[in-house]
Amino acid sequence: MPDSETLTTIDPLEGSLGPHKVVHAFWLAGMSCDGCSIAAVGATQPSVESLVNGTIPGVPKVILHHPVLSVEAGEEFMHPYEQAVNGELDAPFVVIYEGSIADESIAASKGGYWAGMGAREVDGEMQPIPTSEWLKRLSENAAAVIAIGTCATWGGVPAALGNVTNAMGLMDFLPNDYRSTFGLPVVNIPGCAPVGDNFTETVAAVLLFLQGIGPLPEFDELGRPAWLYNETVHRGCTRAGFYEEGLFAEEYGDKECLVEIGCWGPVVQCNINKRGAINHVGGCMNTGAPCIGCTMPGFPDAFAPFYERPPGTFVSTTISKATGSIIRNLRNHTRFFNNRTRRWDEQGQVPNGWGNVREPNLIEKTMHYFYKKMQNSSSSSSKQ
Ligand code: SF4
Ligand code: SF4
Repeated sequence: MPDSETLTTIDPLEGSLGPHKVVHAFWLAGMSCDGCSIAAVGATQPSVESLVNGTIPGVPKVILHHPVLSVEAGEEFMHPYEQAVNGELDAPFVVIYEGSIADESIAASKGGYWAGMGAREVDGEMQPIPTSEWLKRLSENAAAVIAIGTCATWGGVPAALGNVTNAMGLMDFLPNDYRSTFGLPVVNIPGCAPVGDNFTETVAAVLLFLQGIGPLPEFDELGRPAWLYNETVHRGCTRAGFYEEGLFAEEYGDKECLVEIGCWGPVVQCNINKRGAINHVGGCMNTGAPCIGCTMPGFPDAFAPFYERPPGTFVSTTISKATGSIIRNLRNHTRFFNNRTRRWDEQGQVPNGWGNVREPNLIEKTMHYFYKKMQNSSSSSSKQ
């Protein structure tokens, strides 16, 4: 496990635990590409449909207010947001923010805005209301505030070095001591885009907690669901065996480990290789792409230039090339003998119409003899 302390103490709850029949979810978008929305609606475990239909046992039905997905438009769409701000909803609500938060004062100084939703009259003119303002106002009464995607969690691409918007994530935007009405700091689901299941599973876990049924899910010191983000990409990678045996891809399309063509997986916390991008399918290395660290607070600056070999890998790959060449040969030797039946050994040939299977030479037979001795001695000593 990466070194991280798990957050174990939460402020006393002010909100009232359930049961609640419904919970509203107010979606807001800042400096966003909408990729997180797409990732969320692709989730299957659980799906957004099962959350909004209330079909998960124990989890209250979610009434989703989403600027793209909702059927309502205009004032009809905005009305529940205003009710939530004014404390007029008869059910608890969570806020979900996608995209980073730009400094609206910079845009306002030029008479514009970065990200807005709804409008209000200013000096006789209708002006957009920044989504960051909605976030600030809604967060005061929210049961939970969830940042989805790396832009919302840490700032992401819009906050990269040289940006002109002073963009930031929710942790930086809300006060340091921010707590929801249920005592929760901002919940962070990073990824560009995140695994949709990571988001919906966390939402379901938080809702079970709000319902008074489940425990508070375990989050790490950066508010990430610990059970989803504590392991590195490398530990779940289908190519990790190649790394261990010192075999590395030289170009895209090769099947081996991608570290020498730019993979940061050994130091990046992400579960996409194990879980798949959607419905257990896809995931970066599974589809041939090196990890560029998109779940990490340092992304993108700490991982640029992309597709260049991370400098720290020289030591580890040199060692695994040296040890891997020996281990690989020993494994090939054992594999050769385990691909034979006892009958074929006794006959001294493989009766085979597919192709010639060579017989082991004297050195191989001798090595195998001692290998079996070791194998059997360990099993007989364990019986004693
Ligand atoms: S491709 Fe990346 S994550 Fe996979 S084994 Fe290689 S270094 Fe590790
Ligand atoms: S494997 Fe790397 S690049 Fe791919 S989603 Fe995870 S953190 Fe991002």
